[in-house]
Amino acid sequence: MYEISGGFAITRKGVERDFSLAIQNDRIIDMGPSKDIRSKYKFSDSIGGKDMVISPSFVDAHMHSFQVATKGLTSDKSLLDWLKKYIWKWEGTLTPERARACARLSYLELLKSGVTTFVDYTSVHHTDQAFLAAQEFGMRGNIGKTLMDRNSPSELQETTDDAIKDTARFIRKFHCSDKGRLRYMITPRFGITCTDELLAECKKLSKKHDVMITTHAHESRFEVVTDKKNYKTSAIRHFHKLGLLGPNLLLAHCIWLDKTEMALLSKTNTGVAHCPGSNMMLASGIADTPKMLERGMNVGLGSDMGAYYNLSIFDQMRLSVMVQKVRSLDPNALTHNQAFEFATIGGAKAVGLGRQTGALEIGKKADIVLLRTRNTAFSPMNDVVAQLVYSASPACVDTVICDGKMLMKDKAVLVADEERIISDSKEILKQAE
Ligand SMILES: [Zn+2]
Repeated sequence: MYEISGGFAITRKGVERDFSLAIQNDRIIDMGPSKDIRSKYKFSDSIGGKDMVISPSFVDAHMHSFQVATKGLTSDKSLLDWLKKYIWKWEGTLTPERARACARLSYLELLKSGVTTFVDYTSVHHTDQAFLAAQEFGMRGNIGKTLMDRNSPSELQETTDDAIKDTARFIRKFHCSDKGRLRYMITPRFGITCTDELLAECKKLSKKHDVMITTHAHESRFEVVTDKKNYKTSAIRHFHKLGLLGPNLLLAHCIWLDKTEMALLSKTNTGVAHCPGSNMMLASGIADTPKMLERGMNVGLGSDMGAYYNLSIFDQMRLSVMVQKVRSLDPNALTHNQAFEFATIGGAKAVGLGRQTGALEIGKKADIVLLRTRNTAFSPMNDVVAQLVYSASPACVDTVICDGKMLMKDKAVLVADEERIISDSKEILKQAE
């Protein structure tokens, strides 16, 4: 049993001072004022200290690790242009070696940002490489093979049967593996590239194995118009007709929603991955997250790498608040506390892990990050959460713990060779000459 202590801790009740957590194996078994906790237990080790903030580690509810190699090449494009000209082209050239290098580089950046739970759409091929990399890192990976059985380039398009068979094989191999840290997520790309037959098979697999489905919906206006032509109704209404909406579905984006669609999502308890950085980068629009919260929906944050160029959850927290202020010209449209919740418990609930992670609570998994406060971001210390959201960056992350296990300590990544990952990426993923 070991102790994690901090000058500050962000709990569900608010910010606590001089606080400690007692960790046994993979769980938080007790927490409270440091002096009380220390008098109750005999610890074999103690980490943290007065100059640290203890926070639940973060959730990136939507990213594409295999797209990390397109960083810097795809600026100033709209969604379908970006996808067809750059992303699909790159995904068509993936090899197992490139896929592994992408996954390692992405998970390294997530870890250094304090993220321990992530949702990774990989690509059509080499998804096993992402699972193997997540296993190396000891993170809570929710990973899926992208499914496309129409309107796709030949290197990526599969038959419905092949797509489903491969998915079923991955579910059997990886779902709930690595002590339950790794979960499979069924990941049809989006309505435009997936037949109804494929979506119906996804639903069957989801039910049979109790596996979540995640896909993109209502991201750009062009996509919405195309879906309306195909479906004679909107994608969300169509997904509802197919019986896909529900707590086992996580939808990325959800920008262009009418009242009925918003009501359908909230009524069915469908999770949303809000990706403000990507939505700005591709000029897709702004999701109405204050309305989603008003309706009690589970909303998490996604970096949406590669549409956005980094995996810092701090960026997404900050952007998620700022964009609402500009959108509504109301400084109270969304608060920094709500942005923090998006990145922690909101994301955990949206990805179906709300009971296990996303908050400092007795009985929850020890998924924890320690942030240093002896830096400009937290000096002077006036409001811990406001400064975490508006001033902090991955540079403040000192220690990252997942499932009670230390993945990073004193800013050093313990589970991977950081230098090697960087030099391999420069070599293996090089594209621009
Ligand atoms: Zn995406």
